[in-house]
This record gives sequence, structure tokens and C-alpha cells, in this order.
Amino acid sequence: MSLLVVGSVAFDSISTPFGNSDKIVGGAATYISLSASNFTQNIKLVGVVGGDFPKDYIKLLQDRGVDTNGLQIKESEKTFFWAGKYHNDMNHRDTLVTELNVLGDFDPILPESYQDCEYLMLGNLAPKVQSTVISRLAKRPKLIMMDTMNFWMEIAMDDLKETISMVDVLCINDEEARLFTKEYSLVKAAKQILALGVKTLIIKKGEHGALLFNKDEVFFAPALPIEDVFDPTGAGDTFAGGFIGYIAQTGDISFANMKRAIIHGSAMASYCVEKFGTQRLLELTDVEIEKRIGQFVDLVKFDVLVAKI
Ligand code: AMP
Repeated sequence: MSLLVVGSVAFDSISTPFGNSDKIVGGAATYISLSASNFTQNIKLVGVVGGDFPKDYIKLLQDRGVDTNGLQIKESEKTFFWAGKYHNDMNHRDTLVTELNVLGDFDPILPESYQDCEYLMLGNLAPKVQSTVISRLAKRPKLIMMDTMNFWMEIAMDDLKETISMVDVLCINDEEARLFTKEYSLVKAAKQILALGVKTLIIKKGEHGALLFNKDEVFFAPALPIEDVFDPTGAGDTFAGGFIGYIAQTGDISFANMKRAIIHGSAMASYCVEKFGTQRLLELTDVEIEKRIGQFVDLVKFDVLVAKI
């Protein structure tokens, strides 16, 4: 079951109440691929980096089964750079720097060997670039999922609406859902977004879990209460990677299986925040993932006792 992942491969500089990172490897496609690689070994990456990007990190992705033939390397240019700062409330962050560099005129070229992909994950990128990827696939994948952010809602709303109407699953956070629809109620916001034609909507609520909607059903997944959230960068992408990786592994796109997928995504995100950048994801074992999924099951399991009158 091959999974095509498109998105930024980046350098990040992160400041949290726990400390500051140097320029470290990040990017949506990096987190998505690392997370999904725990569930499926057939991942094909499309992105672009500059000549300053470490070749050993590309090798590290390859060692985890990620095909990087679609990762363009522009030797004379610089990799996309993002800097962010978190305060005590880790659900919100300030973007300090966005240097598009190679991402500025990114043309997502798909190698011929990528044409057979069954699942497509469009990481946060310009909506026009996301829709270009869909149009360059000769056969529509079984499931297309996309992420986006407030930035595109502010400068490319029409393109964004068009791209959303082309995909099966949209993954955004609560703030973005409210900004997009101008509705405070997430239930009303979800109805408005689903009316655009996307079949399934995931609204992430940071440390308060995530909601999964389709036209007729809704499901809620909690986030694991964690003592110290060290660095939330990439948690959203790691969540998406866990979700789509699990769907690709199981091959089941029913709502019932998406409930399981959302728990797998939440479990992966809960690990991502434990250390700076991708560090925790790189150390993660299958045993740890199984254990955390068990903790999620325990978190929401309860009996209903019917009182005798
Ligand atoms: P998340 O915390 O899951 O929302 O994603 C964080 C990642 O998104 C970081 O590693 C950044 O490199 C990447 N990122 C931030 N802004 C952008 C942007 N405008 N386009 C693409 N990727 C971005």
C-alpha cells in the first residue's frame, strides 16, 4: 500500500519555555514520513531542499523505508527555514521567521514510479501546489488527505476552497476551522466545511484532543495528559502521519477504521512533543507505540452501571 507524502522539508529554530533549539531538521513532510513509517514501509516523498540540507538526514529517511527520489535538491539554493516561539500555553505559537527559499517556486515533480500511490497526504503547502499534485496523478488515489494553515486562509482562500473540494479528508486545528468559517461553534464550522465536498474532517484541539466528522457521524479522541510538553512543533504533522500511515497499513477507509487511525495519530503526536524537533520520533520503538495506544484505550474505557430502582 504505497503512501505519497508531499510537503515541506525544512530547517526549524524553536524556542519554548524549556529552551531553544539550534537550526534543526523539521518540515511537514519530514514529520509525516517519520510518523507514518512506523505503520507502512512504502512511503514516497515529494519535496525540495537546498544544498545546505544534510545528506545524512536524507539517508536516515531512506533507512526508514522512505523513497526520496521525489525530493529535489537545489544545490545552489537554501532550504526553507521557519522559526517559532512558544509561551507557557503551548497550544499557541508565534511564527518569528518564514524564509521560503527553495519552497518559493516549488514545482512538485512526481517521478514515474510514484504514479501507483494508493494514499496521498498533502502536507501544509500553497493550495495551488497541493492541487497540482492531484492533477499530476494519472489515477486518483484511494484516499487523499490534506493539511493547511491560517496563512493560506488569509492570502489564498479561493484556491484553498477549490483544493479542499478535491480531497477526502481535511485536517486542521480549531483556530483554523473558526477562521475559515467565521463560526465559533466547531459543529457549525464542520457542517460548513463538509458542504464544500470534503467527506471527512478532522479538527485538532491540541492538548484537548481531536474531533472526527463526516456528514452523519462524529467521534472524539482525547489527547494523553502529559506532564511536560517539551516542544509541540510537528505534533500536527506527526498526528497526520500516524493517521494516514495506519490507514495505509490497514487498507480500510471506513469511518470505523478512521476512529482507530485518529487514536494512532494521537499516540504518535503524544510522543513527538516529548523532545525537541524530530528527536523523539527517531528513537521510538514499536513496543512504545503499542503501549501508548493501550494507554489511550484505558483513558476512555468506562462501564455504565444501570442503577436498580
Ligand atoms: P506543525 O507544528 O505540525 O504545525 O508543523 C510544524 C512544521 O511546519 C515545522 O517543522 C515547519 O518547518 C513547517 N512549516 C511552518 N510554516 C510552514 C509553511 N508556511 N509552509 C510549509 N511548512 C511550514
